Amino acid sequence: MVHLDEKVESLFEQIVRRNPGESEFHQAVREVLESLGPVLSKHPELTRHKIIERICEPERQVIFRVPWVDDRGEVQLNRGFRVQVNSALGPYKGGLRFHPTVYLGTIKFLGFEQVFKNALTGMPIGGGKGGADFDPKGKSEGEIMRFCQSFMTELHRHLGEHTDVPAGDIGVGERELGYMFGQYKRLTNRYESGVLTGKGLAWGGSLVRKEATGYGAVYFVADMLRVRGEKLTDKTCVVSGSGNVALYASQKLEQLGAHVVACSDSSGYVHDPDGIDLALLKQVKEVERARISEYAARRGRRSRFVPGGNVWEVPCQIALPCATQNELNARDAATLVKNGCRAVAEGANMPTTPDGVRVFLESGVAFGPGKAANAGGVATSALEMQQNASRDSWSFEHTEKRLAEIMTNIHRTCYDTAEELGVSGNYVVGANVAGFLRVARAMIA
Ligand code: GLU
Repeated sequence: MVHLDEKVESLFEQIVRRNPGESEFHQAVREVLESLGPVLSKHPELTRHKIIERICEPERQVIFRVPWVDDRGEVQLNRGFRVQVNSALGPYKGGLRFHPTVYLGTIKFLGFEQVFKNALTGMPIGGGKGGADFDPKGKSEGEIMRFCQSFMTELHRHLGEHTDVPAGDIGVGERELGYMFGQYKRLTNRYESGVLTGKGLAWGGSLVRKEATGYGAVYFVADMLRVRGEKLTDKTCVVSGSGNVALYASQKLEQLGAHVVACSDSSGYVHDPDGIDLALLKQVKEVERARISEYAARRGRRSRFVPGGNVWEVPCQIALPCATQNELNARDAATLVKNGCRAVAEGANMPTTPDGVRVFLESGVAFGPGKAANAGGVATSALEMQQNASRDSWSFEHTEKRLAEIMTNIHRTCYDTAEELGVSGNYVVGANVAGFLRVARAMIA
């Protein structure tokens, strides 16, 4: 653990005491505080205005009951959350996660990260996050619909295009957002397109939104390589996960001439030395909603499925963790470095443990933290809000160009901030400080 200045350490302890048992939230807060050292002494107004204390305390936290009826006619019960962390820069913005492990600490860490990520995009959006401990796995279409409707029956009163604008995250995609948008419309009698993003193209969605998080992470890697005088072409890549982010990160890597040789899900990983067949992976994951073992079975001898295996064992030059938090630890990082990994960008939120991050930084690996590297998703959500507000829809080319410009700006901001602070190439410090200062200045104003 990095040593904190005495005053900041005692602030951190206060925050831990105030939020007991929320280890992921503590981890996310600690990482930001570790980056802020030199900034706090340079900007006494931050201390005077108690900005750290205020930024670490969400503006509002809603916890609610979500009852629904399953296909056997039995009543089921889940817990829903929406944590509205910071609205200094704009309406709360951030996804909804449906996963059985979700509890308040998960949503608070995600919402906290979202505040700085959203600030880095330069778009007028505050930060928040929500979700439920609902497990979509194995549920029927009807069960998913009834759950989403019940979830929105409570959530709708806390939302609005100028108030709070959710989107998807793990377990929530276009289908779930459709059920929620329908319920919002029914309850409010308003066709308020800008209240949710990640919508379907037929009902107010934006081109490129689906691809944006993965594409953006790859643009970020390309920029990190560029400043080192390297290129993506012909690089061997491993992408963990096989959801939306992993799929489109892999697609962009292939388009730019790199080769993706492995991906994973919670049951294990597949290794295709000749390259993952993306059309087949899309069919299995997006259309059939099946497991990657199914992909491997159909791919035959060109693919090896390793049940329960650790995808970071597969040698690569570029690693993109795109599954979930804390999926890559110090041992995995050391394995990657030993096998010749040169660059890592986080497609998921906080997928690398603090020790893992340290291994990468100390080994000179180019490391793009999630706040910066995966900001393309939420940035394109903000572009969707722009289109909704002007009742317009942009072409794929135009939208992708905007996304690429935003990612290049984020990369430059993080890079320059690290330079100024004398920690050249440290994108973790660059992202934390640049994101924090943008929010802090607005709060003080
Ligand atoms: N869940 C995504 C994220 O972690 C997207 C949020 C959004 O588009 O609002 O940034």
